[in-house]
Amino acid sequence: MAEIVVASGKGGVGKSTVSSSLSVLLKDKNIGIVDADAEAPNLHIIFDLNKWDEEIEYKNKSLAVIDYGKCDNCLKCEDACVYEAIYHNERVRIKEYLCEGCGACKVVCPRKAIEIKSGLLSGWIRISSTPYGPFVTSELDVGQPNSGKLVTEEKNIARGWIREGRVKNLIVDSAAGIGCQVIASMSGATHAILVAEPTESSLSDLSRAYNLAVHFRVKPYIVINKSNINSGFNGINVFARENGLEIIGEIPYDREVPRSMAYRRPLVIFSPKSISSRALMEISENVKKFLD
Ligand code: SF4
Ligand code: SF4
Repeated sequence: MAEIVVASGKGGVGKSTVSSSLSVLLKDKNIGIVDADAEAPNLHIIFDLNKWDEEIEYKNKSLAVIDYGKCDNCLKCEDACVYEAIYHNERVRIKEYLCEGCGACKVVCPRKAIEIKSGLLSGWIRISSTPYGPFVTSELDVGQPNSGKLVTEEKNIARGWIREGRVKNLIVDSAAGIGCQVIASMSGATHAILVAEPTESSLSDLSRAYNLAVHFRVKPYIVINKSNINSGFNGINVFARENGLEIIGEIPYDREVPRSMAYRRPLVIFSPKSISSRALMEISENVKKFLD
């Protein structure tokens, strides 16, 4: 089996375009699809999914609750909270969206007036079918923590599909950056497709994503998106050469890409003869090599 993470150090470089189109093009390889951006999921929009086969409540939020019958307003809890989740006006109060449930306030409270409630709703995991394979996505509720754990839960569901023999390979559309969600996406993956644009800032972000992949022993490959927007820049190619990375494809800038998103279709279905789709077909042939 292969677990292919589509990642980049920054957002907006085309990860979801690559992930959705590869999902279509690799359908015959028995794939499951994971949208691993719990804070801003979008693959379901590209797949035009409105209904879920299953929606699971994700209960991972812990929250401090004050018993005002015991509290004498000494403010020790406010001093102890490094997350600045406690403030006071007439009495101490908890900012629920900032509370991480760490319990420090409970420890310092001399009147045992604070309890930590756990297992509160913080998001949803949603499972559906697409014509290309089973699909799992998630959504973290506003201001809730532990997006990385939520992505891990999603991946566990998708790995279950492999154990059941339902799929053989996974495509994981990672979040932007190198934070908890991306760490959860990379953890246990086999290959990473790092999407970059030919700009200095994208090169810097690519380098961070590459280091993360190396740390997790995930075999990295590069795709250059909007490859023709900065013809004098060859930093991505130099980076690939210096680090022994294979560039498995270059996708030229194409107005069909935003149009396909507006019409909620994967690019290779919306505009299969476009220059960007043809580039993605070549990339999928390269991906098939490491799937085989
Ligand atoms: S549980 Fe932690 S984060 Fe929440 S209010 Fe108490 S000290 Fe602050
Ligand atoms: S530490 Fe306890 S008693 Fe003091 S203000 Fe906080 S909740 Fe009230």
